[in-house]
Amino acid sequence: MQLITVPDDVYNRRIRRFESACRDNGLKMTHQRMVIFRDLARSTDHPSAEMVHGRVRRDIPTISLDTVYRTLTTFEKCGLIFRVQAEAGQARYDAGLEPHHHFVCTECKTIYDFVWSEFERVALPDAAGNIGHVQEKQAVLKGICRKCLDRAGSH
Ligand SMILES: [Zn+2]
Ligand SMILES: [Zn+2]
Repeated sequence: MQLITVPDDVYNRRIRRFESACRDNGLKMTHQRMVIFRDLARSTDHPSAEMVHGRVRRDIPTISLDTVYRTLTTFEKCGLIFRVQAEAGQARYDAGLEPHHHFVCTECKTIYDFVWSEFERVALPDAAGNIGHVQEKQAVLKGICRKCLDRAGSH
């Protein structure tokens, strides 16, 4: 899977947020945590713990998958990253806390970000409000991405 990197200003903003969240939560900024967070802050592919593990092993060859899992859970608790509700089974992580929505390709399992400001402005139906207090509203679209469509068309 090709890794698209985020623009420098977005990346730097995420790193600054990481540094202040560590301070606020009394979390030590260890080399391991830095390497793991940097990978997440730089990626747009909503990696699973396994994907993060595969990449950070280049910097820390001895790191275990379990350590990566635990670190991701810690980051999640500190509000630095969130889990994407996309597919049943594998948790995927997102360091993009700016409001955005997801397009999940059912073929290649890539999770794409997109902005949908109209959706964010639409009032919730009473039916949802009657259930309880809504904390966030996020859309997940499923379909087949352009890359997979092109690949299917070329055969
Ligand atoms: Zn695809
Ligand atoms: Zn996302």
